[in-house]
Amino acid sequence: MTGPTSASQSLTRVCPDCDGFASVKVTLGGRDRNGHLRTITAHCPTCHGTGTRTARRLHTSTREVAA
Ligand SMILES: [Zn+2]
Repeated sequence: MTGPTSASQSLTRVCPDCDGFASVKVTLGGRDRNGHLRTITAHCPTCHGTGTRTARRLHTSTREVAA
């Protein structure tokens, strides 16, 4: 279960930063008392672990001029 989650292709696109692999497990080295690898989960900062981005762009470059 490491592939991207299924998403509708109409409104969302695969995240360009992680190509859909939005979260990964990183081993910290060593094992816990049960013998399991100690890992942390790192999410893509762009899509926040979803693997997709909305098709519309978020351009909020409106300028406000203080008078
Ligand atoms: Zn991403």
